[in-house]
Amino acid sequence: MAADAIVFDVDDTLYDLAGPYRVAYAEVFASRYDLPVDELFKMSRVHSDEALELLSAGRIDEEDHKVLRVQWTLADWGVEVSREEALTFQRVYAQAQEHIALYPEAVEMLDACAASGVPLGIISNGDAAHQHQKMLRLGLDRWFDEGHMVASGDVGAHKPAQAPFRAMEALLGSSGAGVWYVGDTYETDVIGSKRVGWSCVWVDVRGRVVPAVPERPDKVVHSPAEMRDAVVSLLA
Ligand SMILES: [Mg+2]
Repeated sequence: MAADAIVFDVDDTLYDLAGPYRVAYAEVFASRYDLPVDELFKMSRVHSDEALELLSAGRIDEEDHKVLRVQWTLADWGVEVSREEALTFQRVYAQAQEHIALYPEAVEMLDACAASGVPLGIISNGDAAHQHQKMLRLGLDRWFDEGHMVASGDVGAHKPAQAPFRAMEALLGSSGAGVWYVGDTYETDVIGSKRVGWSCVWVDVRGRVVPAVPERPDKVVHSPAEMRDAVVSLLA
């Protein structure tokens, strides 16, 4: 059965966020530490969302959020990072993100979605101004109505909270299992979308650990090409 609507995550789902992370690691930390950068990147996504929870609760500020996600990630490997080092890393990481581009397979996927006429949306965790700037830089306004590109900062609550998903249901005029969510982070994307009764494609390009929770994705894909094919199959 064709999907009623398809909603996408952005970071590390529609483009490769590990590339900018590797650039920043090489420039800031590689000369001093010998750490598994791809594993660091995976944990950084989890810690980023943990810090985002504290930010949205008003317990830390925007700069703390950026510092803590770096410090917590390297602490997993027993490395203590100063605030200054963390901010330097963040600066290089942000600069590297100015050169991101969509996966070619994501472009093909979004072209197919647009041609089918299925309603489309985006829910991306993070600060509203930063996320919207990034969505425009990626050219996502080619496929998505501006009003359907939602940053969690717009809503004041971050995935996996229900509020951003409920806000998207109101925009789309649809809810339930006919609405599909496509995202890479289990803790926010799979758990969040399943808890509101949506269906979910989990994009597990990096071989992440599945947390011990009852929520399970409806489809699992392991590459951008598999993601494209799984989403196109929802259009039939
Ligand atoms: Mg993501």
